[in-house]
Amino acid sequence: MEASYQPFYRELSRFIAKECIFTDPSRTMAYGTDASCYRLIPQIVVRLDSEREVQQTLVLAQKYKLPVTFRAAGTSLSGQAITDSILITLGDNWRQYKIFGDAGYIRLKPGVIGADANRYLAPFGRKIGPDPASIDACKIGGIAANNASGMCCGTAQNSYQTLHAMRLILADGTLIDTADSESIAAFKKTHGPMLAKLQSLSQQTKANPHLADLIRHKYRLKNTTGYSLNALVDFDDPLDILTHLMIGSEGTLGFIAEITYETVEEHQFKASALFVFSDIETACEATRILKKQPVSAVELMDRGALASVENEDGLPDFMPLLTDDATALLVEVRGADQETLQNKMAQIMSSIAEFNLEQQVPFTDKPEEFGRLWAIRKGIFPAIGAVRPVGSTVIIEDVAFPIEQLADGVKDLRKLFIKHDYNAVIYGHALDGNMHFVFQQSFDTPQQVTRYQEFMEAIAHLVAVEYKGSLKAEHGTGRNMASFVELEWGNEAYELMWQLKNLLDPQHLLSPGVLLNRDNQGHLKNLKLLPAADKRVDSCIECGFCEPVCPSTALSFTPRQRIVIWREINRLRRSGDDNKRLKLLEKDFRYLGDDTCAATGLCARRCPVGINTGELIRDIRTQRNMRHEKVARWTASHFTTITGGARLALNTVAGASKLIGPQRMGKVTKALYTLSAGNIPLLTPAFPRGTSCPQPPKLSTGDEKVVYLPSCATRTMGAAVTDPDQRPLTQVVEQLLTKAGFSIIYPEGLDSLCCGMPYNSKGIKTVAAERLADMEQALWQASEQGKYPILIDTSPCALRAVEGFTKSMALFEPIGFVNHYLTDKLEFIPEDKPVMMHVTCSSVKMGLSAPMKALLDRCCKQVVIPDGIHCCGFAGDKGMKTPELNASALRLLNQQVPTNCTEGVSNSRTCEIGLSEHSGVPYRSVLYLVDRVTKPLPKTIS
Ligand SMILES: Cc1cc2nc3c(=O)[nH]c(=O)nc-3n(C[C@H](O)[C@H](O)[C@H](O)COP(=O)(O)OP(=O)(O)OC[C@H]3O[C@@H](n4cnc5c(N)ncnc54)[C@H](O)[C@@H]3O)c2cc1C
Ligand code: SF4
Ligand code: SF4
Repeated sequence: MEASYQPFYRELSRFIAKECIFTDPSRTMAYGTDASCYRLIPQIVVRLDSEREVQQTLVLAQKYKLPVTFRAAGTSLSGQAITDSILITLGDNWRQYKIFGDAGYIRLKPGVIGADANRYLAPFGRKIGPDPASIDACKIGGIAANNASGMCCGTAQNSYQTLHAMRLILADGTLIDTADSESIAAFKKTHGPMLAKLQSLSQQTKANPHLADLIRHKYRLKNTTGYSLNALVDFDDPLDILTHLMIGSEGTLGFIAEITYETVEEHQFKASALFVFSDIETACEATRILKKQPVSAVELMDRGALASVENEDGLPDFMPLLTDDATALLVEVRGADQETLQNKMAQIMSSIAEFNLEQQVPFTDKPEEFGRLWAIRKGIFPAIGAVRPVGSTVIIEDVAFPIEQLADGVKDLRKLFIKHDYNAVIYGHALDGNMHFVFQQSFDTPQQVTRYQEFMEAIAHLVAVEYKGSLKAEHGTGRNMASFVELEWGNEAYELMWQLKNLLDPQHLLSPGVLLNRDNQGHLKNLKLLPAADKRVDSCIECGFCEPVCPSTALSFTPRQRIVIWREINRLRRSGDDNKRLKLLEKDFRYLGDDTCAATGLCARRCPVGINTGELIRDIRTQRNMRHEKVARWTASHFTTITGGARLALNTVAGASKLIGPQRMGKVTKALYTLSAGNIPLLTPAFPRGTSCPQPPKLSTGDEKVVYLPSCATRTMGAAVTDPDQRPLTQVVEQLLTKAGFSIIYPEGLDSLCCGMPYNSKGIKTVAAERLADMEQALWQASEQGKYPILIDTSPCALRAVEGFTKSMALFEPIGFVNHYLTDKLEFIPEDKPVMMHVTCSSVKMGLSAPMKALLDRCCKQVVIPDGIHCCGFAGDKGMKTPELNASALRLLNQQVPTNCTEGVSNSRTCEIGLSEHSGVPYRSVLYLVDRVTKPLPKTIS
């Protein structure tokens, strides 16, 4: 940290806990990225949890004249979420929401993820208006501050149009709530001159026909370049002007502490069609006609965009055969009911009947079919991102043309691609004339930077001057276009924007260089290099989409941050530049990157380019653990002894726990864990007692046969001492299967079988593979070469078998098995109590979230799926050796357990230990619940 930040830091530490302030090289670098092509490393990162803290921090920043930048999810593409000064991030306390007014409104804190807001509104058939493609990751603060939008919301349902009220904190630390008359009255007293100035700027603007017309013209289009000047012409009340100016201000005018949106209708019925035209002009002509029809979205994709995905599985066969200029429109229509949907489809089809289509996929309302059409559109960006040369970045530009000139605009764009030797593809929201173009770019030589500069200047001139369009239609101005705002808007409007900035942030401390920048080279500074690190992660675009599901996000690094630091470590290793820094980053990475990664790879599910950061970490562990392979091999060949020892240890702890009580025992094991610096695993009161390996049943009574493989965890761990149901899972499964009329086959040598997962997660891959092969062989024999289904009672082991077995066998984990084999053999009598549901990472990967919910709906009347809980972070023995990972991943769990809830369900014994510990209710296998709520169906007499 630079010396000039020390006094600020000292004062900040008086009211913010030290663990919420980061100044070390690893953490600050990790936070120095967003999804843009810029990198700035903050001096201080501070995680704040309340309005009061934000106010105090802003006042302090004013005192020391230090710039401040706010960060929501950091998915911005124009460089507005990074800083080289103070970065304010949001803690857990910014996730509240309230739905009111018959679900016509939703009040949201800035840390709520956009998709979560929509999930809360879904039962009411409503959603929020803004719909950026990044909605699964980005947060309300960023959505509002960028005025983000997507394919359906257009200019009618963005944050600006659907804003109802706001709580905001100005640069001087003052809080104003526009839904609270007392707050308004107080604000008017303290900030009367500010409001009067806003009013007078509004009056002057309205009285200036040239300027007012320009503003109206610019907001006919989608536009996020510069401030929302339309606030000055659309409103008279200075508070309305103020709150609407905050929308799209990218954190440069104040902090949005809460926003109330008017919600919009979410139609249940949807259908999509793909129409391919022979050239871009015809596609644009069709778009103009479609704009007058009841369409929800029209996405244009040029030939290059289509070609980037044409060889993917499941796409229409005609894709590779399309002609050179073929251009597709993907059209979506929505309706409140089936009849409305049908009428709309008919109306749309007749409106474009006059066009000759080169190819088409007619309207379909089947989700699996229209999902395949949308896979074309969604696949374009990842496809380009994944194939770019190592070290280059992928840039998405975001311009808008007046729709009447869309075809010409797109043709001229293409001419610029050729002139500047860029191989870019074009796609976008055609109804709004909003086109994205995607290209690869590296910044590692001055020539590359100059090439980029010339290209961007030509683009800016074409879009802003020749077509009077928007340089940023939805991604925000950021650092990327701040130097071009005057070019787009003209001097008069540009200076008006500066007046607004001077009024609301007189010291220019809120994100200087973002949105407005008098430096005409600003967009060429602090460009991000993406040095090669590892082939598994080189295609990472640092978008941050993976962050919400990672269990270590609040504890150490996110997947994106692991990659950022691994890139830097590898750069330093190659360059030999700064050995001290290298050693420091390597040391920090051991804990922040490696030890606290659960390595279950849930991040890959969210990554647009399919990166599994867990695989990178496992590879790093492999390098490190090579020397442990001998020991691992010994444990593998003495597996029965090892599990026997584990049972003994668990029973000893359980016995002691019974003697002195689970809470005291918890304290003892915690002390041992701390004293041994983590070398003695932490055993909490939720830990199970040992159990014995099941023996083959003496009598096989059932009509059907099933091979049952209890995992090594199930064979070793019974119920927790504190659990009211003391049956081990193996006993429950035997009872359930027998009730359903199955006879059970156990594989030979059961007690020594293991899928190899414990070795794999430590990176000891050879031993892991051998263990899996042994297990496959045993199951192959037990199932008589795949004749009988196989139930594996633990989802991670089931997934390893599904992914790694070479022989064809019917493999099931509990949810799939019950849904497939037991629902027609047993009667379900649902219970009245709520049940907590946890879907393990392996179950998510096997697509079991919806089937699990469906199964639980049969078992009980209320299923609780807690917010913000994804990977539980227990990950084999991490829950014992790095228990803080589990605690951090589940920190929001306990508060979401309803008071009348006494049980949670999952399908992995180790995950259930941590879930029980951190929820306060016992989590068990879903099979306990199924067993409890079912009875055999009466036999039908044929
Ligand atoms: C692959 C990809 C696709 C994308 N698709 C779209 C798209 O379809 N449409 C679209 O509009 N955008 C898109 N984006 C860009 C970006 O995801 C969105 O603009 C998003 O809304 C940013 O939200 P965030 O939570 O990540 O905010 P951040 O990036 O963290 O911040 C955004 C801005 O808001 C400011 N800010 C954050 N919180 C506050 C606060 N509480 N008060 C005041 N200011 C605040 C920040 O300083 C910054 O200037 C995409 C990004 C990627 C990587
Ligand atoms: S790993 Fe994937 S999701 Fe995560 S930042 Fe990189 S590209 Fe984005
Ligand atoms: S594997 Fe899990 S813990 Fe590791 S980076 Fe991915 S989501 Fe995070």
